[in-house]
Amino acid sequence: MKRLVILGGGESGVGAAILGKKEGFEVFLSDKGMLKEKYKKTLMENAIPFEEQQHTEEKILNADWVIKSPGISRKAPVIQKIKEKGIRISSEIEFASLYTKATLIAITGSNGKTTTTSLIYHLFQKAGYKAGLAGNIGKSFALQVAEEEYDYYILEISSFQLDDIQDFKPHIAIVLNLSPDHLDQYDYTYQNYADAKFRITENQDKDDYFIYNSDDEMTQKWLADHTTQARLIPFSLKEKVETGAYCDDKNIYININSDTLEMKINELALTGKHNVANSMAAGIAGKLSKIKNEFIKQSLMDFEAVEHRLEFVLKINGINFINDSKATNVNSVYYALESMKTPVIWIVGGTDKGNDYTELMPFIKQKVKAIVCLGLDNEKILTTFSHLVPNITETRSMKDAVNIAYLYGTKGDTVLLSPACASYDLFQNYEDRGKQFKEEVRKL
Ligand code: ADP
Repeated sequence: MKRLVILGGGESGVGAAILGKKEGFEVFLSDKGMLKEKYKKTLMENAIPFEEQQHTEEKILNADWVIKSPGISRKAPVIQKIKEKGIRISSEIEFASLYTKATLIAITGSNGKTTTTSLIYHLFQKAGYKAGLAGNIGKSFALQVAEEEYDYYILEISSFQLDDIQDFKPHIAIVLNLSPDHLDQYDYTYQNYADAKFRITENQDKDDYFIYNSDDEMTQKWLADHTTQARLIPFSLKEKVETGAYCDDKNIYININSDTLEMKINELALTGKHNVANSMAAGIAGKLSKIKNEFIKQSLMDFEAVEHRLEFVLKINGINFINDSKATNVNSVYYALESMKTPVIWIVGGTDKGNDYTELMPFIKQKVKAIVCLGLDNEKILTTFSHLVPNITETRSMKDAVNIAYLYGTKGDTVLLSPACASYDLFQNYEDRGKQFKEEVRKL
């Protein structure tokens, strides 16, 4: 019996353990932290041995195959030892993909993964396809492979899940865009991070499709220097393309196999230029999967925004409140501000990841009438923006931030929480930050 060791007992690890057991492996799960009660219960019910708050090397280094949670750093000592011994390391995504015959659609990029993955899933649901939603989102992919009978999986993929792939082969792969992120895990080089993302296409063959953003500089560079076997299908906000998707001021056009789906931009459910791009990428995936134009259009029209992503909360005395807590980098804030049509009171701040705010400056001058800093250390925001926006206030709780933003507001303004920073200084995570924002807004 082959020994399968799972490192990390969260949603993906526990799913991998169950699939491993079903496929006849001797499974052991190890987590350096504490396991959630519900996962312990599942492991016990399935008679899968595990340990927590430690990694016992004797029980790990005798593995034939290790499945590593994307949350564990590649630089962790235990990972180095596993590598030295030459033991195969895979992500849960790669592992699960080897035990399903379903068609895989995999979405990666720096921003817009959750939105586009959910949108494509919505399209497949509407068309009546038997599809599962997995990856960084919802239920574990491996668990679904063990328990469900789907024809398609729509997978949100992070760069960490692509780090150690050998065989992962999606039929349709999408790279939405690239901007520097997580560089601490990639020796601080943007190229390494980008190369990791493009591994999504490395096992694709000529019957597969690679959907890419032809406006994206890093993507252009990568395609100039590398080849992929897959058929290349671009989408662009800037230029007309023959096969693929593009737009003008009013419409989007998705042209696949000489059949064009045309749709008005103002009919799209999701607003903002970035979401035009996301909608086009999703529409291409739908058309390549032979979903009828009418279903694609309907889905792009009635999709409901994912929580914490430019999510409309309430209108109070003519002031709109928008929760974009998931905007944890400058590029997402760029698109949030770009999509604003009213004066903005911008709530920003948190744990800085080395932000460069230069690209936001035109929007700050045009649209931002007040800034509310929300972080333990607001120094960088104060020095960067106080000469441009005189109305700038520091806060250290969501309650204060929302109340002060409301005081700055007048009828017709928008209060936008779009922090450009991680949330860990004052909140548990971005969901907690977004939820607290909504609660405080409702109390106004
Ligand atoms: P991810 O899963 O890649 O983090 P999300 O869909 O959760 O992406 O969106 C994260 C943030 O990025 C949100 O603030 C959202 O409004 C913004 N965003 C969504 N799509 C894009 C895009 N294509 N380009 C830039 N920012 C985007």
